[in-house]
Amino acid sequence: MNATSFVIPALPQPSIAVAGETKSFPVRRIWCVGRNYIEHIREMGNDERALPFFFAKHADMLEPDGATIPYPPLTKDLHHEVELVVAMKSGGLNIPADKALGHVYGYGVGIDLTRRDLQQASRKKERPWEIGKSFDHSAPCGALQPASKIGHPAKGRIWLSVNGTERQKGDLTELIWSVPEIIEKLSEQVALGAGDIIMTGTPAGVAALSPGDKIECGVDGVGTLKVAIGKPA
Ligand code: MN
Repeated sequence: MNATSFVIPALPQPSIAVAGETKSFPVRRIWCVGRNYIEHIREMGNDERALPFFFAKHADMLEPDGATIPYPPLTKDLHHEVELVVAMKSGGLNIPADKALGHVYGYGVGIDLTRRDLQQASRKKERPWEIGKSFDHSAPCGALQPASKIGHPAKGRIWLSVNGTERQKGDLTELIWSVPEIIEKLSEQVALGAGDIIMTGTPAGVAALSPGDKIECGVDGVGTLKVAIGKPA
């Protein structure tokens, strides 16, 4: 199919930069894991024994390293959630955990920006989470590091600071469900595919952001990401 096949102009392909490469990683779907670090489950008052679950953002909600993100509409409680990002080069249904890492292209650092007030209101009403999680500019993601260069990180500090003050810290060893287990479980629900990315959950310390805030975050051995919060759109 070429561009003349469409009744409006063809849309741009969302993508994420790759460290040290001129070519970028094309993104198909963004999956996110809810509740995957015990301290964050406790700070949110949720059941520690409940299984993690998945929700989605759209690929065009990505923002690159260095972006200024407009403070989103409808919320008074925008929260940061720093997360390890897994980028898939292939996929399928029912991927066993022991085969999962063979489908991973690489890793990055992302922020699952969350309109916490709207997320909690929708939870109380037993409505879906889209309004709290899936909004414009809600998925900043730094450059990916290929697994061929850095391997498959299973430990390493994960942290986030706002205006130079550390707010979130944890370690990949604290993930309740490991990356292979996440891929196994998510691929029971949907066929994963090349270009899918998975945000793997956040450690404790989530808190509110304001216009003008400067966020820096990282995962040791993977990379860093810096974004700023701007005025409302
Ligand atoms: Mn999250």
